[in-house]
Amino acid sequence: MNFYDTESLWQLFLQGGYRQVEFHEPADVYVINTCTVTQEGDRKSRQMIRRAARANPDAVVVVTGCYAQMSPGEALGIEGVDLVIGNQHRKEMLGMIERIEQERRPFNAVSDILGQKEFEDFDVPMFVDRTRASLKIEDGCNHFCTFCIIPYARGLVRSRKPDSVLAQAKRLSDAGYREIVLTGIHTGGYGEDLEGYALADLLTELEKIPQLGRIRVSSIEASEITDRLIEVLASSKKICRHLHIPLQSGHSEVLRRMNRHYTTEQYADRLRDVRKALPELAVTSDIIVGFPGETDAFFDTAMEFVRAQAFAELHVFPYSPRKGTPAAKFAGQVPEPIKQRRVERMIQLSDELQQTYNRQWTGRVLEVIPEETKVYDGKRYLIGHADNYMKIAFSGDQDLRGATCAVRVQKPGAEVSYGMLESVVARLTGTDPTLSTQVAFAESSAYSLHG
Ligand code: SF4
Repeated sequence: MNFYDTESLWQLFLQGGYRQVEFHEPADVYVINTCTVTQEGDRKSRQMIRRAARANPDAVVVVTGCYAQMSPGEALGIEGVDLVIGNQHRKEMLGMIERIEQERRPFNAVSDILGQKEFEDFDVPMFVDRTRASLKIEDGCNHFCTFCIIPYARGLVRSRKPDSVLAQAKRLSDAGYREIVLTGIHTGGYGEDLEGYALADLLTELEKIPQLGRIRVSSIEASEITDRLIEVLASSKKICRHLHIPLQSGHSEVLRRMNRHYTTEQYADRLRDVRKALPELAVTSDIIVGFPGETDAFFDTAMEFVRAQAFAELHVFPYSPRKGTPAAKFAGQVPEPIKQRRVERMIQLSDELQQTYNRQWTGRVLEVIPEETKVYDGKRYLIGHADNYMKIAFSGDQDLRGATCAVRVQKPGAEVSYGMLESVVARLTGTDPTLSTQVAFAESSAYSLHG
């Protein structure tokens, strides 16, 4: 999400006639797009701000993003910082910089994000790699999980207007991107603030864009998978057979403490319903281990539950107390060594589940869009993701990057599976070469600008 926002800021500067330079080069303006999701995020943000301020004491140093939103006074107190602007009013950033250049007076532009009602709309030709583009469809979250600071830093759900999403999707697919990943802070919350318009409606409209090859939904809560959405997923020819459905804990008591709005039974029921409609769906998930109050017995129950859900892969995180969230003060904090042991067990389970999921594709054909070339065991392969998010390596011409290739899976693995090219389904067309120069800064959460 932060990469996307950084890219959208860059577009603003680009239109304002700025030129981008490397972070270590002298610049007139430094913009640090910060993170606050963990205390480590705060620390790294402060470190980067100090580096920018030291690099050119005459430059305007702008601190934006989640750390700026949560701790504006602290950010403005760092020597050399001129402007602090949180997760809103960012379109006004250039005007504020011009004023600071004239007046040289530090300015705090952070305001109450929870009162923000409108999605701040930027036109971003952003992509994850040469073949996949990200498209931000919403910002904010209404859930207030007890471990998470995000709603305080990002505000409540604000959906991008459907017309704007569709126009952006059309532009990206015209430029040659075969796959669009719909992203947001809480993607499944799309439409909560729109009258009678939900994610299912948006997906139905996106399906009609002829040039668009694949649509991927980055993440969705189990409670947001409605019967209507299941129908849309089942009838779609473009939506990827992959959903990331965060579970967070496989024990209902821990879920209650997390304020997750579902029990393990309700989660399993929804998963069963989706799989009935889409039997080969890959479901990936997030798990936090060592949440306050998670006993050994709770964790064992969670392991069993996770195993039974047959996930295709898990993202496992040890619980890390975040200042300002209710859970940081909960009794029953779990000692670090115990958390680490649980993380290892859960990761091992994830590897087993991933191998099991991938094995079922042996001998079958998947459509893969190669993104890069890489050397494995001394041999160069094209690497790409299938629609079910399996990472597949196969031999083929470099020119096939961005094309849709039918690949027969031969050797399934955990991180990467190997396959053989059967045919090329669709070649890459309509590529806009100017887009490929933007990847260098899209992958940096902090950059400097030379006016
Ligand atoms: S749903 Fe996600 S973003 Fe929202 S509060 Fe919970 S963890 Fe944070």
